[in-house]
Amino acid sequence: MSDPRFDLRVRAKALDAEDGLAVKRAEFVLDDTVYLDGNSLGALPAHVPERVADVVSRQWGRLRIRSWDESGWWTAPERIGDRIAPLVGAAPGQIVVGDSTSVNVFKALVAAVRLARGAGGGGEPDAGHGGRDGRDGRDGRDGRDGRDGRDGRDEIIVDATTFPTDGYIAESAARLTGCRLTPLAPAEVPAALSSRTAAVLLNHADYRTGRLHDLPGLTAAAHAAGALAVWDLCHTAGALPVGLDEHGVDLAVGCTYKYLNGGPGSPAYLYVREELQDRFDSPLPGWNSHAEPFGMRPGFEAADGALRGRVGTPDILSMLALEAALDVWDGVSVDAVRAKSLALTDFFLRCVEAYVPTGLVESLTPEAHAERGSQVALRCEGAGDVMGRLIERGVVGDFRAPDVLRFGFTPLYVSFADAERAARVLAEILES
Ligand SMILES: *Cc1c(COP(=O)(O)O)cnc(C)c1O
Repeated sequence: MSDPRFDLRVRAKALDAEDGLAVKRAEFVLDDTVYLDGNSLGALPAHVPERVADVVSRQWGRLRIRSWDESGWWTAPERIGDRIAPLVGAAPGQIVVGDSTSVNVFKALVAAVRLARGAGGGGEPDAGHGGRDGRDGRDGRDGRDGRDGRDGRDEIIVDATTFPTDGYIAESAARLTGCRLTPLAPAEVPAALSSRTAAVLLNHADYRTGRLHDLPGLTAAAHAAGALAVWDLCHTAGALPVGLDEHGVDLAVGCTYKYLNGGPGSPAYLYVREELQDRFDSPLPGWNSHAEPFGMRPGFEAADGALRGRVGTPDILSMLALEAALDVWDGVSVDAVRAKSLALTDFFLRCVEAYVPTGLVESLTPEAHAERGSQVALRCEGAGDVMGRLIERGVVGDFRAPDVLRFGFTPLYVSFADAERAARVLAEILES
């Protein structure tokens, strides 16, 4: 009988040889570590340090304040938003970069409730969604926060399995807008939607299990009930096609330091669908979202377009590091990334099954491709300890409490040989 380890190593070699994205790996700073944590902090693209050095030494050091114009600092949030747009299926002019994901969740969710109540545009209901007509109790008053559901829209539904920060912020946004918060598993959302639901905050992929949620279906369900759909793309942007425009998503947020490799704490982004921009009423209006930021006027008047999502002075150093990092996507098709991601996770699961004695790990990752993000989550006893030993042996994933080993597969720089080695080392650790 042939040795499965030998067979799978040969197979990995063959898969790497026919991988069209394999050339991308050389564009990153990597060593012989198997890096399966790009869903937490993406690796450094090799050209970024030099670009950041130029921003610091020349743009800041020599041009100083002239750089706000001459180096394009002032318009960076929209410009870089337009670089991210094709990766998430958005036409230009709908994304701004800035602030953290947490802060953008707040802006998006409060603005969604205001939009659902018809605020910010003279109290007219949104003509964009047919389902809006059925709202009960509209009285045409302005959309002040804290009203007790006079519009009949006094509920926010939040993904109960969400990354904690989204849940904390949803709770505060609900309190601030006089909504009740209903935490539900995404699959339970359609049945729970009603004429009282203002907004739904969902994750495109579950950060713990890697389960991919049905963005088109859940968005359509929210719309049918007259509610707005807000999506968190932290675990899918840069890993698979999102199709924001195609699926009529209202608002979306995401971070840039995971699959987009923007660097630690790089700024997040906010998508506001074009038809909603006129009525997008930010709960954090700052001088950067003012129609005339340098008019220094006492009253706020919102700028046009996506830049209503800006707040204050952008974090230029991080933002321009991100802009440089996005160069690695030039000429890359997100469909090709998705195909490789699925092939990698399939292959890793196959290696785990072949190498790890039955019963020692349990995959939480959905078998069906349509339900799988770009990571594999394995439940395992003593997962914290096991991950510590994996890292010592050069296989870097992460541990999520209480018992999950999480392996992120970033198709731009992870190889099939990496997947095979990770499974082999895991089996050796679990057998010992
Ligand atoms: C990574 C992640 C965040 C991170 O939020 P920050 O404000 O950048 O700390 C938020 N939500 C989800 C779903 C995430 O995966």
